[in-house]
Amino acid sequence: MINPFDDTYFMKRALQEAEVAFEKGEIPVGAVVVVEDRIIARTHNLTELLNDVTAHAEMQAITSAANFLGGKYLNKCTLYVTLEPCQMCAGALYWSQISKIVYGASDEQRGFRTMGTQLHPKTEVVGGILAEEASALMKRFFIEKRNLN
Ligand SMILES: [Zn+2]
Repeated sequence: MINPFDDTYFMKRALQEAEVAFEKGEIPVGAVVVVEDRIIARTHNLTELLNDVTAHAEMQAITSAANFLGGKYLNKCTLYVTLEPCQMCAGALYWSQISKIVYGASDEQRGFRTMGTQLHPKTEVVGGILAEEASALMKRFFIEKRNLN
């Protein structure tokens, strides 16, 4: 039997969060945290609303998932995020000991891979899931933003 809860399924949920961010005028990055095919956290970038440069979707996701689980380690969790994590988020994800990270679009400028940031040795990484959808949303955001100025 085919499991409907695959990486694409959960990345679609993360993209929905990115769209919520878009509507709020936030850089459209969304994330969900999954344990055993169940979403335990849904978050998006909130740097404008919170006036906080650390309020990336992944940072919200780590806090939200840990609150849900009642423990700080996410070693049974998978994070789905629409954009490759930056080095700050990769560092935080290291501390969370997250089991798996699935991201959408690559970030050639600020992504953790470009920056050479180490993840936890036990963390599995998958990139490029629904990458075109995620980067199209980012492009649309920055085009609209430019046109408003
Ligand atoms: Zn980040």
